[in-house]
Amino acid sequence: MAAVETVVMLREILATPPAEVRRLHAEHINPTLVQALSLLGYGRDLVRAAGVSVWDAEGREYLDFLAGYGSLLLGHNHPEVRAALEEVLRSEAPNFLQICPQPLAVSLAQRLARIAPGGLSMAYLTSSGSEAVEGAMKLARAVTRRPRFVSAERGFHGITLGALSVTGGQKHRAPFEPLLPDCALVPWGDAGAVERELRKRDVAAVVLEPMQGEGGMRPPPAGYLAEVARHCRKYGTLLVLDEIQTGLGRTGKMFFCEHEGVEPDVLCVAKGLSGGAVPVSAYVTRRALWERAYGTLQKYDVHSATFSGGALACAAALATLEIVERDRLPQRAAELGEYLGARLREVTSGHSLVREVRGRGLLWGIELGAGSQFTVELVAQWLAVGLMQRQMITQVGTQAPEVVRAEPPLIVELEHIDRFAAALRATLAQHATGALSSLSQVFATLAQGAGRAVRDRVKLALGVRQ
Ligand code: PMP
Repeated sequence: MAAVETVVMLREILATPPAEVRRLHAEHINPTLVQALSLLGYGRDLVRAAGVSVWDAEGREYLDFLAGYGSLLLGHNHPEVRAALEEVLRSEAPNFLQICPQPLAVSLAQRLARIAPGGLSMAYLTSSGSEAVEGAMKLARAVTRRPRFVSAERGFHGITLGALSVTGGQKHRAPFEPLLPDCALVPWGDAGAVERELRKRDVAAVVLEPMQGEGGMRPPPAGYLAEVARHCRKYGTLLVLDEIQTGLGRTGKMFFCEHEGVEPDVLCVAKGLSGGAVPVSAYVTRRALWERAYGTLQKYDVHSATFSGGALACAAALATLEIVERDRLPQRAAELGEYLGARLREVTSGHSLVREVRGRGLLWGIELGAGSQFTVELVAQWLAVGLMQRQMITQVGTQAPEVVRAEPPLIVELEHIDRFAAALRATLAQHATGALSSLSQVFATLAQGAGRAVRDRVKLALGVRQ
């Protein structure tokens, strides 16, 4: 009886009118987000999602080229992932029972060991990308007993204090400083700069995304990762590769490092690991490193988390990995990625506002340039909002407000890519009609009606010059 009542309650909650959802979000979660979304023109009541598509309350279809910031590898609500979750719920397997090894957790760890490059056979299961990076950094300290970390400018590794300390953008770091001492940020792509930091042999780990995502979809220069790996080996520093956004097929291989023939000491995986269904992440490492850090009775439990290895999370991840391998999604990402890149280049070619289109697999960015009157941030938001008006969901990079992302689920079809390209072409064509100036006027008018704090924050975020 009680279960039925809660189901009725949930049905009612799911049917809450969108305006009321917005009001409650503003009251209890983040008022500034709600105001900023409508001010910028993103405000849509998106109520249903399946595959690459999302529908608003009026039944209009949108294509999701943001894909949960890369987490929806299989699109929204994949039926097999849902079936896996239902199966576990039906089974009455314990979800969290840390005092007894569980079949779904060990099976996920075994599967991660099988797909990870090199001899990375030990997985620690976590819940978010930040937590996986945090675990990798702690492992590196425990193994090497060294204090320092080196990472790349513009790199993004998460929001917890450790992961933030190796994250390269001032916007996310500044409010929380001081961060971990002795972390060095070096220019992305400069292996010599990494080597100079390693010479004192006091660096526990170099932490890198093999291709930068939030920093603007920047593939590494040829040979960069291999050279960094060589320096790490020479100086006894661990190489932590954060494949949270690039991993599991996104760039056309199971892991990006396979493009470069590089094997890290620790690999971080998250985002798409559960097909976007349940938060789950992992860091994977070699047995010898795990032994050195945690392989005694005194230390085996010094890094442990309540939500490590939950049955629902692991089931979603196992179903996802099965689908990724069975349906050869890395290969699909490579093939469709070629097409996506070619279409993006074609429709942006020669446009005065587009500086560069770059990417790999199904991870692409369109870098904008500043117009004479407008900051590059405003130009990029104008493009993203214009795409939204044409029913394409995307956003700029978290650490690259000048780069609009094209990052669809790996199940995207050619036809979706064509629709995205057409919307991009149409939005860019509007520039010739003075749309950017009128957007900035609309913005100015809207901003009059908003609270001062929001207006200032949005202006700051967009770099609007007044
Ligand atoms: N690393 C990378 C490369 C990421 O892209 C992200 C998220 N954008 C993170 C870490 C942090 O992941 P999470 O938001 O799940 O903590």
